[in-house]
Amino acid sequence: MRTLGLIGGMSAESTALYYSHLNRLARERLGGLHSARLAMISIDFAPLAEMQARGEWDEAGQMMAAEARRLEAAGAEAILICANTMHIVAEAVEAAVEVPVLHICDATAAALRAAGSRRPLLLATRFTMEKDFYRDRLAQAGIEAVVPGADDRAALHAIIYDELCQGVISPASKAVVLDMIARAEGVDGVIFGCTEIGLLISPDDLALPVVDTTLAHAQAGMAFALG
Ligand code: GLU
Repeated sequence: MRTLGLIGGMSAESTALYYSHLNRLARERLGGLHSARLAMISIDFAPLAEMQARGEWDEAGQMMAAEARRLEAAGAEAILICANTMHIVAEAVEAAVEVPVLHICDATAAALRAAGSRRPLLLATRFTMEKDFYRDRLAQAGIEAVVPGADDRAALHAIIYDELCQGVISPASKAVVLDMIARAEGVDGVIFGCTEIGLLISPDDLALPVVDTTLAHAQAGMAFALG
């Protein structure tokens, strides 16, 4: 089995999901006492979140690149950036290491195609919903992601940073997000495009096909590890 290198801590709440998914997927594929071969650096999220809020993406990219180099030196054979938002700097990370960076959008696009969704609603941080990097990469795969309106985007962004990334799961916020989805017009699926959203709502809450990016990314990682 190949060793995966995880840049985690963005947030720690969803990195725990990656760890759990990857180990379960290894056990499901190989059975018995098998588990995933992982190297992980779990960062302190607060300084990174401050850089994000200040728009210091070059500095954040240099930091991610340095962590990826440390993981490569520790034996990682591929890198997973364990968040959607920080894929803003995926190119800087790719340039810093010899091993591949398994891009979360590619895993998401493949899962959307498998689910038969071509026009999904993208639920994510404001950075992921409003910048081009994510929707453009999905568009290259033939998927037209739709984002909620400005007020909904602001509400969702606050729920992610002020609650989910801090381990707070609120029934009131769940109702807010479910209402957002119910009001979306002309969509044929939903992307949990932030790695914490699956902590708040479940595919079972929705009639539409759902792609949870945390699970899709972990599945892509395990496919590489066992490929
Ligand atoms: N984990 C989140 C994501 O998937 C948000 C936290 C971050 O900005 O990295 O985008």
